[in-house]
Amino acid sequence: MLRGHSKCNIMSRFALSVKARCIAELKAAHKKLQGDIITLKKVMVNVTSTIFLCFNGYCGTSFAKYSYVCAGTNRQAKNFMPNNVKVKMVDSDQHVLRKCIEMVLGPAALNATKLLTTT
Ligand SMILES: [Zn+2]
Repeated sequence: MLRGHSKCNIMSRFALSVKARCIAELKAAHKKLQGDIITLKKVMVNVTSTIFLCFNGYCGTSFAKYSYVCAGTNRQAKNFMPNNVKVKMVDSDQHVLRKCIEMVLGPAALNATKLLTTT
């Protein structure tokens, strides 16, 4: 398991925004579930899908309702997105999005995260 500061190799603003959103989701969910990591892992599957939808411009659709930090109004999503990100992302953006989400909210990441034991 690789750990350290180079989790997201492409340190673009976009990647940082994705990470910020993921960490916000994780913190909010962890607080709400009061450290129940079993449930946390289950809900994060849906949260991950929701983050994909938000960053792809489908914020607030019926499929994007599992977020802990997004009100589904697109306004919240914009807070986490760089101004220059277009609704339609290119393939490389999708790759960054997928990779960054996996690094913060993937099952392996959830097992290893220090957030869950230090808060
Ligand atoms: Zn959203």
